[in-house]
Amino acid sequence: MSNLLGVHALCFAGGIGPDDVTKVIAGAKQAGFGLVEFGLQDGHEFDADRAKEELAAAGLTVTCSRGLTLDADVSSTDLAVVKRGTQLLHDSIASTASIGGIRLTGALYSAFGKAPAPLSAAGRANIVAALKEAAADAAERNVTLGLEVCNRYETNVINTAADGLRLVEDVGADNVDLHLDTYHMNIEEDNFVAPIVASREKLGYVHVGENHRGYMGSGHIDFKSFFGALKSIDYQGAITFESFSTAVVAPNLSIQLAIWRDLWDDSDDLTKSAHQFMVEQLAGA
Ligand code: MN
Repeated sequence: MSNLLGVHALCFAGGIGPDDVTKVIAGAKQAGFGLVEFGLQDGHEFDADRAKEELAAAGLTVTCSRGLTLDADVSSTDLAVVKRGTQLLHDSIASTASIGGIRLTGALYSAFGKAPAPLSAAGRANIVAALKEAAADAAERNVTLGLEVCNRYETNVINTAADGLRLVEDVGADNVDLHLDTYHMNIEEDNFVAPIVASREKLGYVHVGENHRGYMGSGHIDFKSFFGALKSIDYQGAITFESFSTAVVAPNLSIQLAIWRDLWDDSDDLTKSAHQFMVEQLAGA
């Protein structure tokens, strides 16, 4: 397997300003990664020209990710909230393209956080309409949209690969695919094999992370099964390491993801260790 290996920017820096981006690039390169993923942050913008140039010079592939917000949420039944959510998707696609990013992924279908009620049929229809519109915009900018399946405490829209596949199908755009993450799969799926096999045709991106989102190999995720399943479907997409600690904090995002613990404090050691672990898992798959 020769998949591109990526790392989330929050392993190195909490912001997305110029100095943060420079730090992320240096850290990712040093640890051996070929892709970096930036979490978009409302109220904060990239210095796009500089970031694009530095990322290209470093030869790094770029992705961006985000969840929507309570005030701008396409899964709402309040049409003003849906409208703001749709605009947030357009803005996020533009931000992704502005730094040379090829993919925007994450909870693009709802706000992050524990929902107060099940998803309504009207809310789901609003999601599908908004994602169809966003997909057309993204296609013009050569950006693919990934729908990340997240656990029940972060969304009520798609908690399993089966849910995600139905949504991808309903949006029905060539540049919208499925994104699975071992951290979420550990909470919601029966195992790490069947969901990947079922997603064979639509799986475009994966996150790897431990059950507690700390060092790879330090928890109880069955990575042997996971990487074996990726090999069984001849998965060609990127594999990106996600880990969060109170050692590096992003405004809002760290709160939304409930990062209350210091699971590591040395970014370089964490990411080198993760890269080595991923290479070994791929070789053994
Ligand atoms: Mn993830």
